[in-house]
Amino acid sequence: MKKLYIGTNWKMHKTLGEGKRYCEWLAAYAKEIHSQIDLFVIPPYTAIYPLKETLKDKPVRIGSQNMHWMDEGPYTGEISPLMLTEAGIDLVELGHSERRQYYNENDADLSKKVKAALDHHLTPLLCIGESLIEKQLSAGPETVERQLKMALAKVEKAQAGEVQIAYEPVWAIGNEGTPASPEYVEQMHRHIRQVLIRLFGKDTANIIPVIFGGSVNTENYLSYLKLKGVDGLFIGRAAWDIETFREILAGITCWLNKKQ
Ligand code: PEP
Repeated sequence: MKKLYIGTNWKMHKTLGEGKRYCEWLAAYAKEIHSQIDLFVIPPYTAIYPLKETLKDKPVRIGSQNMHWMDEGPYTGEISPLMLTEAGIDLVELGHSERRQYYNENDADLSKKVKAALDHHLTPLLCIGESLIEKQLSAGPETVERQLKMALAKVEKAQAGEVQIAYEPVWAIGNEGTPASPEYVEQMHRHIRQVLIRLFGKDTANIIPVIFGGSVNTENYLSYLKLKGVDGLFIGRAAWDIETFREILAGITCWLNKKQ
């Protein structure tokens, strides 16, 4: 049964208390969620370890929002792969557009981070996506191709199956974002898959999940999930509230039950 990856990045939201209440709910709710769903939550660093404890033995992965590529060193404000694995997690989000935009995260550094994550048995969830101007100039496919080629340049074929990709068009993200049309998303996912095939060959490329994110909400989540080539959803705002996330998870569970 092919997994569907559904998760949320909390960005710089939720205190530890708020995060704990959310994860206590998720721990209790997990049994209602379809077993095909691979669920993950990416909280701020300070919540990683305590929330891992809250979700102990529950089928919910906790991830980190970023990571340095070195194990240790004079890098004030950074966190290392060793520190993340010691905290008991195995998932790290890399290259979110806010990191690229506000902290000069670039594809060359991302190539080191992706490699370090794989070497430490952390799943790199690599975020890619074109800006508004790139879309307006019809350069979206070239942008995601460049991002993939550079960030995955150090990945050997044998490790590539461990990578996960989140396609998040920058113009579709956050309060100012405009939701992408399902047709556009399907086209971009097809292109991403073709690039992955060129990089790693068909068999390996086809096991790399490519999930979609950008203004996913209670109205549109199924329209994206039903698309060929979309292996899951990466949800921001709509998943931060327990009620709306519950609605989305219940809706996906119901849809999967009907499909069987
Ligand atoms: C994001 O910022 O990665 C994201 C998907 O946010 P939102 O769902 O709120 O647009």
